[in-house]
Amino acid sequence: MAEAPDLAAALIAKNFWRDGAGVLHIGDRPLTELADAFGTPLFVYDADLLRRAYRALTTAVVGFAEVDYSVKANPHPAVIRVFQGEGAGAEIASGAEFDAALQAGVPPRRILFAGPGKSAADLDRVIAGGIGEIHLENREELVRAAAAAERHGVTVRVALRINPGATAQGGAMRMGGKPSPFGFDEEEMDAAVAAVAAQPRLRLIGLHLFAGTQGLKADTLLGQWAYGLRLAAQMAERIGRPLETIDLGGGLGIPYFSGETALDLDALRAGLPPLIAMLRADPRLAAARVVLEPGRFLAGPAGVYVARVLAVKVSRGHRFVITDGGMHHHLAASGNLGQIVKRDFPVVAVAQTEPSGAGVSPCTVSGPLCTPLDVLARAAPLPDLAEGDLVAVLQSGAYGLTASPTGFLSHPTPAEVLVDGGRAEAIRARG
Ligand SMILES: *Cc1c(COP(=O)(O)O)cnc(C)c1O
Repeated sequence: MAEAPDLAAALIAKNFWRDGAGVLHIGDRPLTELADAFGTPLFVYDADLLRRAYRALTTAVVGFAEVDYSVKANPHPAVIRVFQGEGAGAEIASGAEFDAALQAGVPPRRILFAGPGKSAADLDRVIAGGIGEIHLENREELVRAAAAAERHGVTVRVALRINPGATAQGGAMRMGGKPSPFGFDEEEMDAAVAAVAAQPRLRLIGLHLFAGTQGLKADTLLGQWAYGLRLAAQMAERIGRPLETIDLGGGLGIPYFSGETALDLDALRAGLPPLIAMLRADPRLAAARVVLEPGRFLAGPAGVYVARVLAVKVSRGHRFVITDGGMHHHLAASGNLGQIVKRDFPVVAVAQTEPSGAGVSPCTVSGPLCTPLDVLARAAPLPDLAEGDLVAVLQSGAYGLTASPTGFLSHPTPAEVLVDGGRAEAIRARG
């Protein structure tokens, strides 16, 4: 029967807690109180959980890589600021994300710009703002970046994003050889290096390799990273000087579905010595800054999406819990953000009087929109719920609000609340 209780229970045990009355807390705040104070639906993020994820990862990769934050996962400046406070730089993919990172206090030198379609206007904006690096993905933007650098009279540090070739292995998985809009194909690396060399305003300082998102296997990530280091050595050979940056991308996963297990950071750490040795042994790479830029791993576990029950109905034997929240705020949970198989995110009752697992039965949690796509869970094991009760979608700190079609059906946008040290602050008002 139950699809997700194990994962949900494990996540609650790890990241949250229930008081004696069964009310779910984030940080030290009961979600019932936050829902009353800020209105529903709402997103709540716990700054301590953001920090905890950042520290766990930096500790695992210490001596190998620095960890920056990929802003698109959750671009709220208050969230970026938490990572900035931990020492993270930022990876941005638009001019507006550049501004958000600056607003959060990230020094422009610590910001890098990736993304397959950088406009002339965004290139102007980041270059004028003194961005650290631009990671180029095609010839047209290479030329646009050179022109923008010329307009500003500066030399811009650039890296080339490479789409790996057919021989690339990420652990047991073949990771390369596929057509992609991202980056230059590995087969074109030499030509791309020459194209940068032909632009006096661009200085090639590194390589960027990002093979895929939601990696839950340490082996796969280590395999991708090792491949990235080998490609970096080739690039350094080609340009005849050491690299300054090797960006191995983000893509570290978090468990969303029952049966998925968290990325094993100990295994990741245990697999790093050969990679570190590879860097140290190669004078062209030894001084390079290796960068990881995860988004989901850092922000995902720290967020919950809270919605209030508007109605409960049984239709031909199946229970539907209809809430004020839905796909317009949380497209990923609805299964419509690129998922091939629609599976349920961990969804729980905010107040659960019975012990976990007791008195629950599967139900569909659907939203207020007039479309059958608006479903938050298809078989969530939830207790009896009534109008006014609250449900929470866990693992909702990344690719939530800003990855959702908020304009669809013109409902208000939800509030976003950051809990930090017992204090809850609305970082975005309900709109
Ligand atoms: C989206 C993105 C990331 C972050 O990906 P996650 O899967 O959230 O870690 C990192 N780098 C680039 C270039 C991206 O486009």
